[in-house]
Amino acid sequence: MTLRGREVLKNPRLNKGTAFTQHERDELGLNGVLPPVISTMEQQVERALANMRRQSTDIDKYIFLSSLQKRNERLYFRLLIEHTQELMPLVYTPTVGQACEEFAAIFRETAGFYITPNDRGNIESVLANWPEQDVRLIVVTDGERILGLGDLGANGMGIPIGKLALYCACAGVDPQQCMPIMLDVGTENQGFLCDPFYLGLQQPRLRGEEYDAFIEEFIQAVKSRFPNALLQFEDFATPNAVKLLERYRDELLCFNDDIQGTAAVAVAGLIASTCVTKKALSDQKFLFFGAGSASTGIGALLVKALQREGLSEQEARDRLFYINRKGLVTQHHADSLGSHLLPFAKDMADMSFDETLREVRPDVLIGASGTPGVFTRDVIEFMGSIHEAPVIFALSNPTSKAECTAQDAYGWTDGRAVFASGSPFGVVHINGEIKVPGQGNNAYIFPGLGLGALHGGAARITDEMLITSAETLATCVTDTEIAQGCLYPPLQTIREVSVKIAVAVAEKAQELGDVKAPLPADFEQGLRAALYDPNY
Ligand code: NAD
Repeated sequence: MTLRGREVLKNPRLNKGTAFTQHERDELGLNGVLPPVISTMEQQVERALANMRRQSTDIDKYIFLSSLQKRNERLYFRLLIEHTQELMPLVYTPTVGQACEEFAAIFRETAGFYITPNDRGNIESVLANWPEQDVRLIVVTDGERILGLGDLGANGMGIPIGKLALYCACAGVDPQQCMPIMLDVGTENQGFLCDPFYLGLQQPRLRGEEYDAFIEEFIQAVKSRFPNALLQFEDFATPNAVKLLERYRDELLCFNDDIQGTAAVAVAGLIASTCVTKKALSDQKFLFFGAGSASTGIGALLVKALQREGLSEQEARDRLFYINRKGLVTQHHADSLGSHLLPFAKDMADMSFDETLREVRPDVLIGASGTPGVFTRDVIEFMGSIHEAPVIFALSNPTSKAECTAQDAYGWTDGRAVFASGSPFGVVHINGEIKVPGQGNNAYIFPGLGLGALHGGAARITDEMLITSAETLATCVTDTEIAQGCLYPPLQTIREVSVKIAVAVAEKAQELGDVKAPLPADFEQGLRAALYDPNY
């Protein structure tokens, strides 16, 4: 049935607002329903941008953009593509964090898909309620560890929605093929449990065997209903994140962005840092402050990267040191370490972070602890005293949680530090030079990785594909950017970066032979032609 009149305007996929041509207005019964002037998409982009900027707070801008997405999908994505640098922090971290915290209060219209333990036994038929048949990309969370904000329960829906928006804008995935899913298994957030406006299940989280069985049914239902889809796990609490990845990574096309996407983006930054330090990664020692899913994910991939440079697995592990709340992670505490951390436990005396720093004398210091300010002046000056170009990554998000600021890293090393962060920092002026700190944003990796895995017909996401994505990202940084201290390319180039990563990942999957079909000869051309490019 062809929609007409206001019904057309209510369909975000069809709606062009004031850009409907006279011919379309005649055909669709839109005369009189729209103001007479016919706008171009460029004019609409300018108008939407000006309106967005007029909103006084970031959360208001987020609400404005969400409404635009639900009103005119093509215009929303055009805006996001053309103004990625400005809009990404609104559509994703940090503003999406606030949007999740206030999700129930700002709720206007549903988006995404909710599955709860009440659906057990019927999950596959519930999935059939999603209006699209050809789903290729699912981002799923259970809301237990939303960014650095903890358990936000069903309010975490903002995360899959935001990540999928980035897939469409940064890697040209068709929004029609995307499905954000919230597995609402309850919450331990006491505020939400007694908030009358909370929109999720007001009951304690499902745990243990019941949780595992619920997830298992969900995974089997996805495989059956959407057999061509890639599943991205997002913001699960670390024990579940690690367990689900181990359990399912060989069973279906899936990955965990907090573990593997973070790992690839960090390893890309480390590869790029060697252009400054002039030292092979395999000649360096790495000290991680924080031993959670982010830093052990980085460690696991880094070990593979070091093996590619010729080290044995054990030699590679020997170069990585972890600090948790008890200090250096050693074998003395083996009983209390998770399976992801155990391989990195050292046969050394227990010691504090400061003692480890002085004992190990690392080339690279990586913070992923969520504890701000732990890279003190003393720590950074020590790194500067033992290396000409000390590598310091402060990856904790949001900005307020960073282990040090860009100003600290450059200021306390006379501008010699090679710095990257999880959240964006502005440029730093030091000794007459301008330093442009790079942001190790996962959005550099996951859209291209997912696109390449999907189009390349990969059966699973392997470590080799992750390393390939990291190496490709590192090659996208120019000498000029490196000279300014930036280890990542400008966000405005992210669509091209994603395509390069996608092609490299698809070719790697092909080389490994773990694919459903061979790549066509003109793969890259076909991929580029198939990218979602919102226009009228
Ligand atoms: P997590 O809770 O799994 O791990 C945190 C780790 O830090 C734990 O091992 C904990 O023991 C340790 N820790 C915390 N405070 C400490 C202290 N004072 N002393 C010693 N150890 C301490 O969290 P996660 O998922 O690994 O994320 C950690 C941080 O990394 C978050 O802030 C997150 O935003 C950030 N992150 C950044 C990126 C990125 O930059 N691309 C990606 C993912 C996560």
